[in-house]
Amino acid sequence: DTNYNYGEALQKAIMFYEFQRSGKLPADIRNNWRGDSGLQDGADAGLDLTGGWYDAGDHVKFNLPMAYSAAMLSWSVYESEDSLRKSGQLDYLLKEIKWATDYLIKCHPTANVFYYQVGDGNADHSWWGPAEVMQMNRPSYKVDLSNPGSTVSAEAAAALAAAGAVFAKSNPDYSAECIRHAKELYNFADTTKSDAGYKAASGFYTSYSGFYDELSWAGVWIYLATGDKTYLSKAESYVANWGTESQSTTIAYKWAQNWDDVHYGAELLLARITGKDIYKQSIEMHLDYWTSGYNGNRISYTPKGLAWLDSWGALRYATTTAFLASVYADWSGCTSSKVSTYNTFAKQQVDYALGSAGRSFVVGYGVNPPTRPHHRTAHSSWADSQTTPAYHRHTIYGALVGGPGKDDSYTDDIGNYVNNEIACDYNAGFVGALAKLYGEYGGTPISNFKAIEKVTNDEFFVEAGINASGSNFIEIKAILNNQSGWPARMGDKLSFKYFIDITEAVKAGYSAKDFTVSTNYNSGAKVTGLLPYDEANNIYYVNADFTGTKVYPGGQSAYKKELQFRIAAPINTTFWNNTNDYSYTDLNGVVNGSVVKTGYIPVYDAGVLVYGKEP
Ligand code: BGC
Ligand code: CA
Repeated sequence: DTNYNYGEALQKAIMFYEFQRSGKLPADIRNNWRGDSGLQDGADAGLDLTGGWYDAGDHVKFNLPMAYSAAMLSWSVYESEDSLRKSGQLDYLLKEIKWATDYLIKCHPTANVFYYQVGDGNADHSWWGPAEVMQMNRPSYKVDLSNPGSTVSAEAAAALAAAGAVFAKSNPDYSAECIRHAKELYNFADTTKSDAGYKAASGFYTSYSGFYDELSWAGVWIYLATGDKTYLSKAESYVANWGTESQSTTIAYKWAQNWDDVHYGAELLLARITGKDIYKQSIEMHLDYWTSGYNGNRISYTPKGLAWLDSWGALRYATTTAFLASVYADWSGCTSSKVSTYNTFAKQQVDYALGSAGRSFVVGYGVNPPTRPHHRTAHSSWADSQTTPAYHRHTIYGALVGGPGKDDSYTDDIGNYVNNEIACDYNAGFVGALAKLYGEYGGTPISNFKAIEKVTNDEFFVEAGINASGSNFIEIKAILNNQSGWPARMGDKLSFKYFIDITEAVKAGYSAKDFTVSTNYNSGAKVTGLLPYDEANNIYYVNADFTGTKVYPGGQSAYKKELQFRIAAPINTTFWNNTNDYSYTDLNGVVNGSVVKTGYIPVYDAGVLVYGKEP
């Protein structure tokens, strides 16, 4: 069987997190289509809560899956640091982890307060556009002593402790800071033991499994970061509270490590730390269920070999379990007869994602990869619509899609968030599995890989036509467009100029001041003219300045602004001739409400020419 290029897949799967970044982006990003966004996050609470990752194809910052993803990525570094270094991807991965943990630290302003979400799920999901120009309110939500949230606080503690462990050598100060926050958050979660205040994520990232699994998982990570056995004891003390299989005391083994339930990761680490049978049995039961079967029970497999847990994001469960399987198989305590089964499983599941079923499920990787993932900023609609444009303007490299149904069926459909969304938590375990496979089989990352795209459409332009004309006037209908996407950006200082030649008026004894400019439909421009451009040659212009009006790629009425303006010579004059006007060049015969895109009506952003040409 083939080995896929795990090096390239790993590189791209890590890069995916760069595309999810919220906040002010640093100069070292490797793409040209993401820009600053969410810069007011936290302002409603008087805090700076900028940064972090957008959750998935949306723009909410949900800290439960974000912290879970950061913890899993740190776990990958913890297991595969040498392989990651060898692949050249370690520093990139550490930067992505720190991007999330920096944000989690900001969310924890005092010991018993944790901001667990920025953005409202419903408001966010009802708009389909790029993050850089989103306009909805993004409220921040917190848990505190009177309204606690143990699940999310403990998961954040796990993320910060795991980061503390992986930054210990390279950045000891930062590691210490992470650990301090981790301990405080752990204490907050542990003393409150309640999710009463964790409300805003309800229906999106509800804590279904409760917080005991997070308390164990975070306890393990604080122990691994500090060696402090109090946390190991705490972690073990909550094992009795974990979820069980129905009507039994058997620790649950039929699901998968995921943002809601991290007891699988906890039991694996506890097995390795303590060597105790209870943990070894539990993790092997789980991995057996996913591979050869446990007690006659085995997960379903698709005909082409994907271990298929659930319709929503099947690939994320399989590849995350692949990571756990390969980590556990590497431990000397793993029952020796199972080592190869677990390793084979890990490779087969990742290979399914990379192409073994006949296509890739990773954007920008392999054969026939998805091109239409459910992701707002990668699609980059200017019209608040999944169908405009009919293609994605950006390639969000490395994103693992939700994946196929039980029968391997899959359609690459932008509207399908069950099978075709991409998400921070999907890629987290996937990165871990890829790092393990790279360590085992090697592969070649693309040297100096960057996601620098060609701009495929005019970002700013004017479309114009003739509304009306007479012996002494012309009335222009002009539509200013902002379809920017590299990155999408707010246009609130846009303007355009309409150039005319008044030679015939001068010959007849008139001058520019005899002309009037008026508007009869104006969606936000300050219109002035005639202004001199080249007086010696009688070239003047009308200036339409939309400064202060938001023109942005975020909906039908947002991305284009119409202006109808009339240029008139004194009444009863007959010299009028617009056919010599520079800006008229493309407009001859464009009447009855129609418009054409024309570069003869140049567009400016804050006074800088961004489209078309001056005379
Ligand atoms: C969003 C997805 C989300 C889904 C379910 C959709 O509107 O675009 O990001 O996963 O709702 O909440
Ligand atoms: Ca839980």
